[in-house]
Amino acid sequence: MENYSEFNIQYIKGVGEKRARLFNKLGIFSVADLIHFYPRKYQDWNNCETVLSAPENENVAIKATMITPVKEHLIRKGMTLYKCNFSDGQTVIHVTIFNNKYLAKALRTFDEYILFGKVEKSFTSASMSSPQIECAETAQGIHPIYSATENLNSKAIAKTVKTALEKFEYFEDTLDGEIRDKYNLCSLDFALRQIHFPSDEKNIEIARRRLIFEELLTLQLGLLKLKDKKDTKNNFPLEKDFTEEFLSLLPFTLTNAQSSAIKDCINDMQSSKTMNRLIQGDVGSGKTAVAAAAMFSAIKNGYQAAMMAPTEILASQHFESLSRLFENTDINIALLTGSTKAKEKREIKEALMSGEIDLIVGTHALIQNDVEFKELALVITDEQHRFGVEQRASLAMKSASPHLMVMSATPIPRTLGLIIYGDLDISILNELPAGRKKIRTDVVDTSYHQRIYNFIKKTVDEGHQAYIVCPLVEESESDLISATEYANELSVKYFQGYNLALLHGKMKAKDKDRVMQSFANKETDVLVSTTVVEVGVDVPNATVMLIENAERFGLSQLHQLRGRVGRGSEQSYCILVSDSKGEASKERLAIMKETNDGFKIADYDLKTRGPGDFFGKRQHGLPNLVIADMLEDMETLMECQECAKQMIKEDENLDNYPLLCEQISDMFRKAEY
Ligand code: ADP
Ligand code: MG
Repeated sequence: MENYSEFNIQYIKGVGEKRARLFNKLGIFSVADLIHFYPRKYQDWNNCETVLSAPENENVAIKATMITPVKEHLIRKGMTLYKCNFSDGQTVIHVTIFNNKYLAKALRTFDEYILFGKVEKSFTSASMSSPQIECAETAQGIHPIYSATENLNSKAIAKTVKTALEKFEYFEDTLDGEIRDKYNLCSLDFALRQIHFPSDEKNIEIARRRLIFEELLTLQLGLLKLKDKKDTKNNFPLEKDFTEEFLSLLPFTLTNAQSSAIKDCINDMQSSKTMNRLIQGDVGSGKTAVAAAAMFSAIKNGYQAAMMAPTEILASQHFESLSRLFENTDINIALLTGSTKAKEKREIKEALMSGEIDLIVGTHALIQNDVEFKELALVITDEQHRFGVEQRASLAMKSASPHLMVMSATPIPRTLGLIIYGDLDISILNELPAGRKKIRTDVVDTSYHQRIYNFIKKTVDEGHQAYIVCPLVEESESDLISATEYANELSVKYFQGYNLALLHGKMKAKDKDRVMQSFANKETDVLVSTTVVEVGVDVPNATVMLIENAERFGLSQLHQLRGRVGRGSEQSYCILVSDSKGEASKERLAIMKETNDGFKIADYDLKTRGPGDFFGKRQHGLPNLVIADMLEDMETLMECQECAKQMIKEDENLDNYPLLCEQISDMFRKAEY
């Protein structure tokens, strides 16, 4: 039999070159793509109603005989109505068809049809407007409904799928009978046929279970193999642990969570394998200190370390604070970003190659091809969720399997974390430094503006600083204009005599830096900003965070923004401004008031907004799932984790599962791993 994964759909009967291009638009090129293009939903044409029993305003199937021939009414040029009457045995149904000449011509009086659509009932009769009409004999059954594109409707897709399923008699299974039995899975062949043309509702579920399992298993196996690849020999073992010495440099004592995370990292780097560790901790939990400790020990052992941050602001902040921390040591530290001058860049690159620089902090600029190291042993990426997996990987390519540490403040529900970071060991910072006060959060409407501004002025008068996050504008309007206008209005109308500065995403990196620097140096009282302050910025003297249009943000994002304050020992405030009257958004904002716990907030976000916020491809580089849903199918996911581990244990290279291997590389290639 021909190989269906390579069979071009163009050659399926009835498709051809032109229609194939329409399928291509849906990402369908081969028969394999086609049969994995599952219906979006189904219409049940089995249980026919009569007009009397049919609910109104709902799509129903009605079996009826055509009792009058079609009459044509030309309304205007290009608009013809066809009218005819049907009877379900009790009630006459007036049917109107718009413009569909082919359908109108095909209908025969006294033949039996199934009409599918909404019924409008009147006292003695009923009417249906443009129902789907098919011969009763062939139309019964459950009809698949596919996501269509322009010029390619669901019915045409169904027909092509049907032809393909008939052409290929049997789809070989990816899993053996033992696994299928153990996890209660039907055969792949059955699943593929039933998912498209189910014989009953129950079989849809059976088919779905198999295909969801298949997809999640493929994902899990792929991640395990990825992790496997990373289980490499430690090329940069640490002879000695310098944590004691590091502690003497710190202006504070570590939290227990920080200490144990540092211990994890040192143990990793002293072991026989390369470190691959995620440091996960809520905003303000002090991840930077953990990174600094690991880098300190690596450098003291004679190696180089690199730390990559997602924004220039954050990179230069890390550079500043690490420079201060290592001021009285012999550690040579440098900053490399997109706005580093060419000459300086050249010098830094040379010094990295010669090993003169021990520690480099930077942005994406670090992963450019011409940046080379003498002996890069440790690579750290901060705010990991901002980077794709690819970028994280490219920095690691700068050396022969350096130790990797990634830091993330996005509190990901544990099960999801296992998937996203399935390839990493995890240390969790579940503790904030001592003396932090809970940030007080309030939700108010815009009528409170004057009072809030007065409160901010009072706070500034007492020596503190504040952030104001600009209102979001419609996409069509410019971010820049609205932020600028808003900042002007504030300084002219409400904050005369105070120093306001504006920070937005479209500013040059150098200017952003300048603004941030002056805020950090307390030269600016109030920083008016777009969401660019969301990530990582650390100015402990700032104690008020005001967020306009709070209802437009995801909760996790609000939590990140709020995390910019409450970083010192002072009482801090977060004020969410929203005029939204919607119940849902009120409830969401109430959660912010209720809890400061990033994990709880993430769970709520996950429940109400779905996993999109965590699983946007750009953020993590995970493959797209077609049928499985990370949240809905959590239980299946756990089963797949177990199953995948067992399979790898018994058959390390999955030699017995060639089809699965193909599927894995397909899935991960599409995600550009
Ligand atoms: P995040 O985990 O959000 O990246 P940071 O590493 O920026 O947090 O730390 C937040 C603030 O807390 C910084 O000002 C840092 O100096 C301070 N900090 C970190 N650890 C401690 C600690 N153990 N005790 C007191 N302050 C700490
Ligand atoms: Mg941070």
